[in-house]
Amino acid sequence: MGFSVAIEGPHNEPDYDALRREMVQTQLRARGVRDVRVLDAMASVPRHQFVPVEFRKHAYEDQPISIGEGQTISQPYMVAVMIEAMALTGAEKVLEIGAGSGYAAAVISRLAKQVFAVENRASLALAAQERLTRLGFENVSVHTGDGSAGLRDAAPFDAIVVAAAAPSVPQPLVDQLAEGGRLVIPVGDDQSQNVMMIQKSRGEIVSRTLHHCRFVPLVGRYGFSS
Ligand code: SAH
Repeated sequence: MGFSVAIEGPHNEPDYDALRREMVQTQLRARGVRDVRVLDAMASVPRHQFVPVEFRKHAYEDQPISIGEGQTISQPYMVAVMIEAMALTGAEKVLEIGAGSGYAAAVISRLAKQVFAVENRASLALAAQERLTRLGFENVSVHTGDGSAGLRDAAPFDAIVVAAAAPSVPQPLVDQLAEGGRLVIPVGDDQSQNVMMIQKSRGEIVSRTLHHCRFVPLVGRYGFSS
C-alpha cells in the first residue's frame, strides 16, 4: 500500500502558499515562463480565493476550473503566457475581456497601473468586483457588458488581453489600442485556437502566433453568436 503525502497547513487546510510556489516552479518556470515580474505576481495572488469553495483544494493544479455559468478560470500556464506576452512594465492601462472570477485581472493589477475588466455575465462580474475589492486589488474595475466591442469610454489601452476565444480579431479592439500597444487574443473555432499577439506600431499592425490553446467562446457582437 502506498502513502500519498498531502501538503497541509493548520486545520487540515492545504498549505496554499506552498502549493502556489510549487505551481510557479513546475507549471510556469519549468515550461519557459521567464518574466520574473509575472512569476512573482502569480506567486503572490491567492488563486484559491477565486474558485468556488468546493474546488479550492484544486486551485493550484495544472488545469482550468469551473466557476459557474458554464465558465472557467483559465489554466495557470495560459494565464502566465498571455500576461507575459503583454510585456507590462507597471505603467500601463490594461483592458481584460472576460473577467470571469477576476483572477487574471488581479495578476495584471500587480503588473500595471490600472486594469479595466469586462465580463458579460452580470453575476460573475458582480462577484469578481466584490472579491477583488475584498482582497484589496484597488486598481481594478469590473464592468458588465459585451467586451467583444472593447470598452470605448476608457480607451485607448496600452494592452488588451482577451480570455475567451474569438472567431477573428475584433476590429474595435485593434482600434482601442494605443500606439505601441499589444493585443493578446485566442483566435480560432470553438474547439481549438491559437493565442495571437497583435502589436500596433506607427499605424502598422504586426501579428504573431504564440501558442495553441482551448478557451471558452467569446460571445457577442464581434464574437460567436450565443
Ligand atoms: N479571466 C478569467 C477567465 C475567464 S473565462 C479568470 O481569470 O477567471 C472567459 C470569460 O469570458 C467567461 O467568464 C465569459 O462569461 C466571458 N465572456 C464571454 N464573452 C464575453 C464578452 N463578449 N464580453 C465579456 N466577457 C465575455
